[in-house]
Amino acid sequence: MDHLDDVRLDALIFDAVPLDPEEINHTAECSLCRARIAARTLLRDELGIARRSQPTPQQLTRYSRLFDEVAVQSLGQRIGTFLETLRLALVIDSRQRALGLRRAAGFGHRLLYSSEEVDVELLVEPEGSEWHIDGDVLPFDPDTIAAPYLVELQIGNESGSNFDPPAYAVASEANGRFRLAGIPSGRYLLALTPARGPAIEIPGLEIP
Ligand SMILES: [Zn+2]
Repeated sequence: MDHLDDVRLDALIFDAVPLDPEEINHTAECSLCRARIAARTLLRDELGIARRSQPTPQQLTRYSRLFDEVAVQSLGQRIGTFLETLRLALVIDSRQRALGLRRAAGFGHRLLYSSEEVDVELLVEPEGSEWHIDGDVLPFDPDTIAAPYLVELQIGNESGSNFDPPAYAVASEANGRFRLAGIPSGRYLLALTPARGPAIEIPGLEIP
């Protein structure tokens, strides 16, 4: 089938019209449609926050720019292109190194994930009974992989090939940094969709 079009995406995200089996199968195979669903979900959530907090004109400008960057530039231009996915491996966990012992238990730790094209560094710190994650995406060649990134966290999912709406979604800053806050303990898939370049996945991310 074709990609989900804008009308269908709006019905799904803004009117909660569920996907039918054929659409579910397509979305399971299609990174682009998953990314567009995530971008619209982000927009919906941003606008929901905006309504609750009486946005200033500056905030509205920011939201519309965010949507332009994430949904239009990074995703819209990629329609019809094949999306490669880089899966990153954990190379450093500060809890397993002498360095980490300087920090008392429960005060956070650093994780470094790596591939030949990109490193992703995560600092996981407690925030009440939950956690926040400060992330930094470090591509080796900024011409190949470029910010901003759409950052999605999916619960208990080992692979992006299984469709699940993201539990948490934010857009990174232009320098590739991002923060996910209010995250409960659990096992997650972290998915990063760059403005340009292949999708990036970190499966099996354990939040203590
Ligand atoms: Zn599609």
